[in-house]
Amino acid sequence: MATASAGWEFELAGGHPALDLVNTVAWRLDPARTVDRISGFSSLARWSAAAGLIAPDVETDLLQQAAARPDRAQEALREARAIREAVHGVAGAVADGREPGEHHLNTVHRMLARAIGRAEIASVVPWRWTLRPRAPADLPWAIALAAGRLFQEEDLTRLRRCHDAGCGWLFLDRSRNGSRRWCSSADCGNRARARRHYERHRTS
Ligand SMILES: [Zn+2]
Repeated sequence: MATASAGWEFELAGGHPALDLVNTVAWRLDPARTVDRISGFSSLARWSAAAGLIAPDVETDLLQQAAARPDRAQEALREARAIREAVHGVAGAVADGREPGEHHLNTVHRMLARAIGRAEIASVVPWRWTLRPRAPADLPWAIALAAGRLFQEEDLTRLRRCHDAGCGWLFLDRSRNGSRRWCSSADCGNRARARRHYERHRTS
């Protein structure tokens, strides 16, 4: 899989941090074009800040620690990618109207249990698990907690996959009538409109 070049801005079209994480893989359904936007620990930290999982000063701190201990940062990156693929395995299946595979379900359950083991309860009631990453190794578990919230708190009948044949992005359809088809109307939706226009004029 190719990785993105520096300077790329993260798109948050999923409507939930766990789906935005899944969507850091672009063109997932078109292997010739598939790109992993999380090219290293620094882009994982940048994405985490963009998605609101960590504060900017925490991002700076984690990047400094990662520079000092690249082996630990690499391990955190590996864990985060494993969480991402398991979340895609479960959420993608739900969006496609399939039964999620046992393997992906077990991975998500196990990672959520490990994350809760590291988390704190933030408020009196209602309880909410939080995890403030203090080191690169904490970051995958903050991400796993966010993934847990997707499956625990959201209306999963609203989970959709972009209708573009190659895009593969997932999103929560929060439109009133539940008719959203594209990750982004400006991007995949626009391409589809242009294609329909072309087909109409070619056949007429
Ligand atoms: Zn799309």
